[in-house]
Amino acid sequence: MSRAQTTLRTSVSIEGVGLHSGHPARASFRPAPAGHGIVFRRTDRPAVSIPARIESASTFDYATTLNIDGVSVGTVEHVLSAAFGEGLDNCVIELEGPEVPILDGSALPFVRLFHAAGFERLDAPVTPLSVSDVVEVSRDGRSVSFRPDGPGLTITYEIDFPHPVVGRQELTVAIRPEEYSTRIAPARTFGFARDVEALRARGLVRGGSLHNAVVLDDTGVLSGPLRFRDEFVRHKVLDLVGDLALLGASLNGHIHARKAGHALHIEFARALAAASRRRAVDAIEPMGGARRRATARS
Ligand SMILES: [Zn+2]
Repeated sequence: MSRAQTTLRTSVSIEGVGLHSGHPARASFRPAPAGHGIVFRRTDRPAVSIPARIESASTFDYATTLNIDGVSVGTVEHVLSAAFGEGLDNCVIELEGPEVPILDGSALPFVRLFHAAGFERLDAPVTPLSVSDVVEVSRDGRSVSFRPDGPGLTITYEIDFPHPVVGRQELTVAIRPEEYSTRIAPARTFGFARDVEALRARGLVRGGSLHNAVVLDDTGVLSGPLRFRDEFVRHKVLDLVGDLALLGASLNGHIHARKAGHALHIEFARALAAASRRRAVDAIEPMGGARRRATARS
């Protein structure tokens, strides 16, 4: 049985800086009705609504961006992770500019904000994505796969960075609010100090600092103590949950990711959405597959 959809009980907001622009950024969260989903709005482009859906996603290595009609919102994955992880289904997220504030580089400030607002149960069930096949995407030794063994969503993530503090890390976690808020949400994004100059030359991470990321040099951590010994793999789970939120549905199954990143996460989410659409077509036309095969033989 599916749980009821939720929204926030009241409007709340939070301020910080944009990771890439370095400019002040503010996000306000407003309640929304059942079936609305998570929708971004920019106060400087009020005519355009940007739903948090896979169709409007584009990625590069460092973040997920949503685009509609030439209007974009960036660095959406941590706030969407908090929403999916905590079971927040419907909300308007109003931004004063092109980016969600980076805050401390984790999803914890968003989780705390949602808890402060409180959740309201709505009179409609959450729709689970219906996928009964194994779905896998892989490239260059990196992969993400789905097996339909629910109930609920479990994620196993493996990473292997040749760095003395990181190395090989593997974590399996059930994506439920209580597990998510304590084990996943606090894990911060991470990066290498040696990459910062090159990224800034491309107009990226201008708001990045030792206060909103775990920053590594060749031998250790420059940004103070880790929150978990395996904070790195926990953050990879956080990012994957944020990218899965773009499916706009709950998931029942086990996802296994190996050395993946945003681009492969999004490709995987698209493959899951396609598998779910195929299943819907088969349900309407159960003989369709057999007829297609018969036609091919004749
Ligand atoms: Zn991240």
